Amino acid sequence: MQTVSDITILDEPEVDLIDYMGTDADICDAARVSTNANVTISDIAKDRGLINYLMEHKHGSPFEHNSMKFYVKAPIFVFREFHRHRIGFSYNEMSGRYTELPADFYVPSLKRPLVNFGTSARPEYRLPQGEEEINEHARLHMIVNTDFIDVYTFAWEKYKHMLSEGIAKEVARDVLPVGIYSQMYVTCNARSLMHFLSLRIEDLSARYPSHPLYEIQQVALKMEELFKNQFPITYAMFIKNGRVAP
Ligand SMILES: Cc1cc2nc3c(=O)[nH]c(=O)nc-3n(C[C@H](O)[C@H](O)[C@H](O)COP(=O)(O)OP(=O)(O)OC[C@H]3O[C@@H](n4cnc5c(N)ncnc54)[C@H](O)[C@@H]3O)c2cc1C
Repeated sequence: MQTVSDITILDEPEVDLIDYMGTDADICDAARVSTNANVTISDIAKDRGLINYLMEHKHGSPFEHNSMKFYVKAPIFVFREFHRHRIGFSYNEMSGRYTELPADFYVPSLKRPLVNFGTSARPEYRLPQGEEEINEHARLHMIVNTDFIDVYTFAWEKYKHMLSEGIAKEVARDVLPVGIYSQMYVTCNARSLMHFLSLRIEDLSARYPSHPLYEIQQVALKMEELFKNQFPITYAMFIKNGRVAP
C-alpha cells in the first residue's frame, strides 16, 4: 500500500469469510436423507466416499445446504466479472450514490504479467524469463505505475471538486475509473462456489482448464483457501474430480 497525494494505491484484493453455515457432514446428511440412512455420527472414511461419489456422478443438490458469506474488496472491473455469476450467489455492494467513495485505487504489482505472449484468440500471460524480458517488464511496470497514478489523481481531484461544488455523489462518481476499489458481501453455497472457482482459477491439470483474468483469480484464490478450510473433504474431492462443480 502507498499513499500518493490524496489517494491510496493497492495491488491486492481483500477477502474475508464473515459467516458460514454447514460442514462436510451436513453435505453427507443431505445426501443420506434420500435413503433415510440414519447416520448420526460422522464417519470420515464413509463421508469421503460419499462426497466423492456425489462429485463424480454430478449429484449437485446436497452441496447447496450450506452457505458462506464473504466480504470482498476489489477493483470495480473485477466486480463486473464477478457479478456475471448469477446462480446461487447473493450480492450487496457499496453505493456510489449514497456514500463518498474511499480513495483506494488499483495499480498492478510487479507480479502481474503485462504482456500477452500468445494471440488475441489464445492469450498467454506469464512472468518474464531471462534478463531481457525482466528488464522490459520493469520498464513497462514503471509506465503502468506512472500512467495509472496520473489518471487516478486527476479523476479523484475532479470528483472531489464536483462534490465541493454541491454536485450529487451519483453524478460526480461518473468520472472515476474502473480501477477504483469497491466493497461487497457475497453469499453463496459450496456448489455455486465450486462453479465459480472452476472458471476463475487457472489450473492446467483441471479437466477443463480456464484462463481467467489475473485480478479475479487473486480473489478466487483467497476464496478457495477459505472454502478448503471450511469444507476440507468436499474441497479434496473437487480437486480429485478435475475441479468440475457437481
Ligand atoms: C475466462 C473467461 C472469459 C470470459 N469472457 C467473457 C467475454 O468475453 N464476454 C462475456 O460477456 N462474458 C465472458 N465471460 C463470462 C462468462 O460468459 C459467464 O457469464 C461467467 O463465467 C458466469 O458463468 P455462468 O453463466 O456459468 O455462471 P452462473 O450465472 O452462476 O450460472 C451457473 C450455471 O447455471 C446455468 N444457467 C445460468 N443462467 C442460465 C440461463 N439463462 N439459461 C440456461 N442455463 C443457465 C448454467 O448451467 C450455468 O453454467 C468469461 C468468463 C471466463 C471464465
